[in-house]
Amino acid sequence: EFLGIYPLAFLNLLSSVFYFYFLFIKKDTSERSMAATYFEILIFSFLSELALGTGYGFFLYMIGLSSAVFYLVPSYGSVRFIYQLVGIGAAFLLKCLLMIAKISFPDIQEAALPYQTIFYMVNLGITATIVLASTFFYSKEMEEAWETLRYNMNHDVLTGLYNRRFFERQIEKVPLSEREQYVISMVDIDFFKVVNDTYGHEAGDEVLVMVASCLKDAAGQENLAVRWGGEEFILYFPRTTPNKVYPVMDELRRRIEGTTVKTAGKEIRITITGGIATGMADSNYEKVIRSADEKLYLGKKGGRNQIVM
Ligand code: GH3
Ligand code: MG
Ligand code: MG
Repeated sequence: EFLGIYPLAFLNLLSSVFYFYFLFIKKDTSERSMAATYFEILIFSFLSELALGTGYGFFLYMIGLSSAVFYLVPSYGSVRFIYQLVGIGAAFLLKCLLMIAKISFPDIQEAALPYQTIFYMVNLGITATIVLASTFFYSKEMEEAWETLRYNMNHDVLTGLYNRRFFERQIEKVPLSEREQYVISMVDIDFFKVVNDTYGHEAGDEVLVMVASCLKDAAGQENLAVRWGGEEFILYFPRTTPNKVYPVMDELRRRIEGTTVKTAGKEIRITITGGIATGMADSNYEKVIRSADEKLYLGKKGGRNQIVM
């Protein structure tokens, strides 16, 4: 009779103190303390189930926590599966012990009996919450990771413009039969190497960001602004003519010419040169890009800071 329900209550108190100490006082939410907590709860539920028998729902923790431990210790890799197996294996072992060895503690069981339903409901509620919460947060993190991955796959990280890969896939996605006349303009910053050499690479990066932001504005919603290479950009205008694109490009050129990049006490101004080429419905877009590049080259030879059609 002296055993009663007290050792269990004591154990429970001990474990609660344990979590509170780690999570709230030491503010230790490291993976190691998560793993320790997992095993602590496993041992506690194992002992409780062993002492009280089935019907109180302590074994639920052994199953339910396996999803939580999987979520909470991501860097443990495949060790997580072993942890899960330990929990689920413990549940099996427990059942075997209870059935085969017929271990039983009548005193404790008698004392706990009036609270059986309450215990079961509370334990079920907690484990259900653990499973739902870990699944929810896990899928949310996955969703965010995919989102970042998709963005980085399609964009240039420095400027936020679309990258070459995205542009090429975007063009190839449209079947030849559905293509209409389009215009491609290739843009290159003038004497950009001088900017890097004079003001440093970081200042050069800021110039790239400024140019990219002007390109984004020029492209608007209908067209694509792409970082093609280091300081080379492409603007893609679907369903239009070069005569309509030229004023847009020249306006862009003048805007960039008139913009000052202020960085580290320095004021930097640059210009761009651009070439414009037209693609027919069935043209090979790589040829169109090459042709825009040739026009760009003419602009460089002709004194830079100009758009050549
Ligand atoms: P041009 O007027 O004939 O185009 O002269 P340029 O100096 O602009 O041409 P060049 O192709 O010789 O130099 C391009 C420079 O762009 C060289 C390279 O270091 C720099 N560059 C390429 N990518 C980046 C980048 O991401 N950041 C910075 N800061 N510089 C870059
Ligand atoms: Mg270049
Ligand atoms: Mg250049």
